[in-house]
Amino acid sequence: ATMTTAILHTTLKENFGFEKFRPNQEDIINCILSGQDTLAIMPTGGGKSICFQLPALLFPGITIVISPLIALMKDQVDSLKANGIEACFINSSQTEGERQFYIESLKSNIIKLVYVAPESLSFLDTLFNSLTVSLIAIDEAHCISAWGHDFRPAYTNLGYLKNRFPSTPILALTATADKVTRKDISAQLNLVNPQIFVASFDRKNLSLEVRPALDRVKQIIDFIKDKPNESGIIYCLSRKTTEELAEKLQKTGVNAKAYHAGLDGKIRSQTQDQFINDDCQVVCATIAFGMGIDKSNVRWVIHYNLPKNIEGYYQEIGRAGRDGLPSETVLFESYGDMIQLQKFASQGLNAEVQLAKLERMKQYADALSCRRKILLSYFGELVTENCGNCDICKNPPLFFDGTIIAQKALSAIIRLKESEPLPVIIDFLRGSKNAYIYEKEYQLLKTYAVGSDLSWFNWNQYLIQLINLGYCEIAFDQQNKIRLTAFAKKVLFDGEKVQLTNVQKFSSEKQEAKET
Ligand code: ADP
Ligand code: ZN
Repeated sequence: ATMTTAILHTTLKENFGFEKFRPNQEDIINCILSGQDTLAIMPTGGGKSICFQLPALLFPGITIVISPLIALMKDQVDSLKANGIEACFINSSQTEGERQFYIESLKSNIIKLVYVAPESLSFLDTLFNSLTVSLIAIDEAHCISAWGHDFRPAYTNLGYLKNRFPSTPILALTATADKVTRKDISAQLNLVNPQIFVASFDRKNLSLEVRPALDRVKQIIDFIKDKPNESGIIYCLSRKTTEELAEKLQKTGVNAKAYHAGLDGKIRSQTQDQFINDDCQVVCATIAFGMGIDKSNVRWVIHYNLPKNIEGYYQEIGRAGRDGLPSETVLFESYGDMIQLQKFASQGLNAEVQLAKLERMKQYADALSCRRKILLSYFGELVTENCGNCDICKNPPLFFDGTIIAQKALSAIIRLKESEPLPVIIDFLRGSKNAYIYEKEYQLLKTYAVGSDLSWFNWNQYLIQLINLGYCEIAFDQQNKIRLTAFAKKVLFDGEKVQLTNVQKFSSEKQEAKET
């Protein structure tokens, strides 16, 4: 073992110029060298590439690297060549002639690594009989799983590689994979008893904060004005929102740009370059922005909308603070977003799993205990200490006896015959005199206006807490009507006490504001 240790360290130093391995790199490499299938889960920037590039040099045959990031292949191959390592790539951006040239050079047996886009693997097919394939590395392996957050159909065929090369170890790499996705990756790739390595996902330098989405544009403007020299990313759910938000920010003098997959390629790469070179302070983007963007001093990441799942959320906030310096993350939680995401998830692929993941995301946002604990436990890390760097740790919620509030709310739901969505219930409780209330003659019902002492914001918070506590529920399949559950009886008739908490973060003048 000491012999191999020495060889590994020499290779690391002489071919890559690094003094020592990062966590897990050496173990992963040893595992591959012993011929075993391996699943490596490491956060972005953790140093995944070395895990296949270094063994590639020690193996007699070639290493095939499957990667979806065509745009980055050339850079990776160039930097390998700069280190004196023979490598090439094959993808659809090349002409037939270029591909033929590389395929010829592969036959000559001097190339150690070939990067291939999954959809271009077939170009290698004829070579497979004559090539000695020593290692197959599958980068961004979560793309194979429809349970992950970035499913790519071209990945689904990769399962045949194990059958084609039964004695070649496969290394699957990804920055994000929860337990279900991990299982799915190894099943779909036909990995044989894979050894799984999970690097710590804890990023202590990222603060975690969730805010109600009330007046979120104003909140964002205030946030940015506070730090004029710090750049950040605002993730939005829709392309339209990225553009509208960028425009609103520009109007207040913020150097902001929109970025989404529907924009012209030239504009996208221009925005990306400006952001990387600190010529653009804020990018309002869909999740299309980020993969492969290497900017170490992103000081903050805001989620304008609730993300679809914790994996995506974690990857996106992970783009802040790569340099290890303190960085802020803020997630805006809105009831409206939740409803919309529920709808998307229930209509999409794998609805059940996606809905469950969304539910976990929501539980995170509604958390009343250390958020980092929730986040890390989602990735299978056991944490016993509170982090001290999330909003809950910094400002623990105080509970009060909310039984009367709960009784008022649940009775109102009964009076409205469990047939109205949350905003109507709040209007009813507060005695609002709006047209809808009068049209329905709700002002004539008992319990109308019994909650006029509380703000719209407070009722919204309390009702959401009651939903989370399981006393009532949203009927997503019926226009989001609020219904009671069997537990509501306990509060209404059996004297059960209800603990609520105040998450009031706004001054009273803002209380009337609706979500923007
Ligand atoms: P990932 O693919 O996990 O996002 P990379 O493989 O691109 O990460 O590595 C991230 C950065 O860390 C690169 O600049 C790489 O050169 C550097 N790096 C990787 N391993 C080491 C190491 N053992 N020592 C120092 N730097 C390293
Ligand atoms: Zn915490």
